Amino acid sequence: MADLERSFKQDLVAQLHHVAAAGDTGRLRTLLSRSPSLINATAQNGWTALMYGARNGHFEVVQILLEGGCDRSIVNKSRQTALDIAKFWGYKHIANLLANVKGGERPLPLPNEVKELENYFGTTLLDRRSDKRTDSNWLSKKQTHPSSVYILFSNLSPLVTLAGGTESSQQPEVKLCRLRHEDVQQFLAPAGEVTLIFLGVELRLPTEPRGAPGRAAPGEEHEDGLTAWFALSIEPPSAEKFKQTHEDAYFLHPPMPALLQLPEKEAGVVAQARSILAWHSRYQFCPTCGSATKIEDGGYKKTCLKEDCSSLRGVHNTSYPRVDPVVIMLVIHPDGNHCLLGRQKRFPPGMFTCLAGFVEPGETIEDAVRREVEEEAGVQVGHVQYVSCQPWPMPSSLMIGCLAVAVSTEIKVDKNEIEDARWFTREQVVDVIIKGNRRLFFVPPSRAIAHQLIKHWIGMNANL
Ligand code: ZN
Ligand code: MG
Repeated sequence: MADLERSFKQDLVAQLHHVAAAGDTGRLRTLLSRSPSLINATAQNGWTALMYGARNGHFEVVQILLEGGCDRSIVNKSRQTALDIAKFWGYKHIANLLANVKGGERPLPLPNEVKELENYFGTTLLDRRSDKRTDSNWLSKKQTHPSSVYILFSNLSPLVTLAGGTESSQQPEVKLCRLRHEDVQQFLAPAGEVTLIFLGVELRLPTEPRGAPGRAAPGEEHEDGLTAWFALSIEPPSAEKFKQTHEDAYFLHPPMPALLQLPEKEAGVVAQARSILAWHSRYQFCPTCGSATKIEDGGYKKTCLKEDCSSLRGVHNTSYPRVDPVVIMLVIHPDGNHCLLGRQKRFPPGMFTCLAGFVEPGETIEDAVRREVEEEAGVQVGHVQYVSCQPWPMPSSLMIGCLAVAVSTEIKVDKNEIEDARWFTREQVVDVIIKGNRRLFFVPPSRAIAHQLIKHWIGMNANL
């Protein structure tokens, strides 16, 4: 009997969702008056009638459900509220209706169910402590402190070693070589040949006591107990000499895809260090007047040495390390069940990925997405939604990951930019990403944001 009741209820819920999705307001009112308790009922995927109404752009359906007292804060299995869904599909009038809070409810400054997604190169084990960059006293003490950690670079490649793997089943892991002051002292002595960057201090769990035992050197109990990290870049001849005395260490080269082998949190440290070091090696003279510069603020500033240089008056971005914004987007077909992937000639055969391109000066993220997709694939894009980002230290890009909804479907490839672009079905993409079937094509590895964007899309409900 209980089973029968359950299936009867499920049937009613399915009907309710169907009429909400179809915009049948007459039947919606009838169903709600008969079974008002079902107004917040969810389907297997966590969707409510409100979400189905919002997804399909039915303003009146949303209005009826809100008047009936439905709960607009429910999230589905993809962690989206009805408001998120309405925004995603560009139904602004419905989004406004859903965001407009009445009757004493206070709107939150930000929706509380938005999860910040993390990508490789985006997590770190350091607190940058920018306040210490100008504290030259503290910095010089930390430079010689026995607990401080140095990571070494040559030609922008970090020094690593293979760890573990002695037990038969375990694969050896690539890890940063964490050197001490005494290991690198030889390079620090004649200033000028090396570039030294203060990266930050090791993050500690809030419960860990300050100056944890074993960290502070004898007789240094008064110290702050912070473990400082520095990045040091040395010239190739010095690097060669160093390798001769440290046989198990080597410089990770070429950087791609080798850097993707690092443990997640070390990758974030390398991203930071590599981008800053690349800035120093590529901008050796003042960009304003061409004079020599000196490095300040722990490596985060270059100051022109010419007295009357205009870069010394006011704040100029030429004095600070650069970050280059890149949009990378997964374009979704208007039918919701295909996505657009492309490939460049230089890619390995069979690899397809999200379209991407640099943001131009004076351009918004959304417009950069629309422009790049139209330039490269001839497809027009309407709504654009930010998903997550990834620092990409080649040498200092920030990949801004978006989902974008196409409003046209015909593909016209710009052969100067890409070689091919195609619509792939959701099933084809699931086959590649989830089942690892590479017969038709393959996508970049999971540590690349393109992979995560595609995965994010297939994780969203098929009906979204
Ligand atoms: Zn200058
Ligand atoms: Mg382009």
